Amino acid sequence: MQSKAKILLVYTGGTIGMSKDFETGALKAFDFGQLLQHIPELKLLDCEIESVSFETPIDSSNVDPEIWGKLASIIESNYLKYDGFIVLHGSDTMAYTASALSFMLENLAKPVILTGSQLPIGDLRTDAKENLITAIQLASLKENNTSVIQEVCLYFGYKLYRGNRTIKVSAELFSAFTSPNFPCLVESGVNLKWNKHLFLPLENQAEFKVQCSFDTNVTIIKLFPGICEKVITAILSIPGLKGVIIETYGSGNATTADWFIQLIQTAIKKGIHVVNVTQCSGGSVNMGQYETSHEMKAAGVISGSDITTEAAITKLMYLLGKNMPSKDFKTVFETSLRGEMTE
Ligand code: ASP
Repeated sequence: MQSKAKILLVYTGGTIGMSKDFETGALKAFDFGQLLQHIPELKLLDCEIESVSFETPIDSSNVDPEIWGKLASIIESNYLKYDGFIVLHGSDTMAYTASALSFMLENLAKPVILTGSQLPIGDLRTDAKENLITAIQLASLKENNTSVIQEVCLYFGYKLYRGNRTIKVSAELFSAFTSPNFPCLVESGVNLKWNKHLFLPLENQAEFKVQCSFDTNVTIIKLFPGICEKVITAILSIPGLKGVIIETYGSGNATTADWFIQLIQTAIKKGIHVVNVTQCSGGSVNMGQYETSHEMKAAGVISGSDITTEAAITKLMYLLGKNMPSKDFKTVFETSLRGEMTE
């Protein structure tokens, strides 16, 4: 007989648990106990739910690698006790946290689903209830006493996505997220439509472990027509800089100006890892396709393929945190670790 799934809800903050301050009109976080009062339907679900809350719930704009470490540690210390984890999180940086957790939680064999909402749970037209209830249902699903989902996902606006493939695209619509380069894993309508063939396969039965160290000596440069030499020179001379994501045009193209190529070459020679990610929300970097990316390829720039900027920057900090030999870095970055990119 299948045992009832045990789910741990981890409340970090975000709009889902906020209420209006009557004096200022601004949204601020409120006590998690009240969140459960707002959804009595949770008691109807066929699973056991327990919850923990950050002592001080935060707006997700205040999330940083320390918070990711805190979240990962909560999951680690409760890993054997629960079948799945729901992380209630503000939507603003949810795609970054989903990406970061996907790398940190090594050999994950249980669902970790991030969700939140655009309107507070107490609001009449809230999207919080559907997001939370369906996320819990999906996390509870087991076959042969094993969780069906075994990766870090994000559920929002009737869709379950691979977390590290998501981007936030709307501050207005209930469908606030999309996954431009990878189809959704489950779509919720009258029935749940499962795309099980897209789920991450459990590659090995190695023991679940967590890597919390991130190296934040990194930055992102978004190219634009007119970006000048002194700006890129200044950024690449930041003391201690170890990695940079360059958001290029189209399929990974950039200016062929000598100064630009020389700055990139010098940075790579100094040991800075330079990753090429496209500014387009859909599609992939393909260095060498155009003359405007050929020199970057020759200089040893790392291809981000179709990775999102959110996944690229978290992967960069995570891999730098591993202190691996510099010569291996490019190959490891260009390898899909958790389904975050097409190789
Ligand atoms: N500012 C909020 C946050 O990200 C927005 C939300 O929860 O959706 O924490």
